[in-house]
Amino acid sequence: MARTLEDGRLVIASHNKDKVREIADLLSPYGTQVISAGDLGLPEPEETGATFTENAVLKAKAAAADSNLPSLADDSGLCVHAIGGQPGIYSARWAVNGDFAPAMQKVHDLLAPHDDKSAHFMCALALCWPDGHCETVEGRIDGTVVWPPRGDLGFGYDPIFQPEGRDITFGETPPEKKHAVSHRARAFAKLVGACFR
Ligand code: IMP
Repeated sequence: MARTLEDGRLVIASHNKDKVREIADLLSPYGTQVISAGDLGLPEPEETGATFTENAVLKAKAAAADSNLPSLADDSGLCVHAIGGQPGIYSARWAVNGDFAPAMQKVHDLLAPHDDKSAHFMCALALCWPDGHCETVEGRIDGTVVWPPRGDLGFGYDPIFQPEGRDITFGETPPEKKHAVSHRARAFAKLVGACFR
């Protein structure tokens, strides 16, 4: 049985304003008062984990210890099957000065010799309390890497990811449609079901 969030206040362990706003929107029906780690001036820990969940836990644990409030962190990325799950936890780090064109090119170049173009996006969420207890969930969406990139909606690797059963990429998918099916939406649905009342 998962621990539920009793306190109305929750720290989002992210310094990314867009991510904090998206999470605040998702949690608004639950009367949760969202505070960002950036607003509290909390330090950003180094992401030294070997998995998405380990990185989410280390970010949420650090924020919970520093703020003395329950804290939520997410960690996400693209895993391409034929190349050993790369870029995986390094998805953000393959960008060059925030530009994902070289990161997508790198995926394409590494994948070129392989027939299997399957991939998935993964999102891990960790909700941790100041006493060190954590609840974790994961959400994923499967699909295919396409080339050339298509669409300028979304962010990151969206233009080269076509979800299963669709003929358009996430880069061509309006945000409300993407958010209905995405790895992040699936992870949030699990977390809300387990921990929010
Ligand atoms: P994080 O913010 O450190 O978890 O990094 C996540 C990275 O994974 C982002 O910078 C993107 O490169 C990639 N990523 C995660 N989710 C998505 C998505 O929905 N679309 C495209 N790229 C994503």
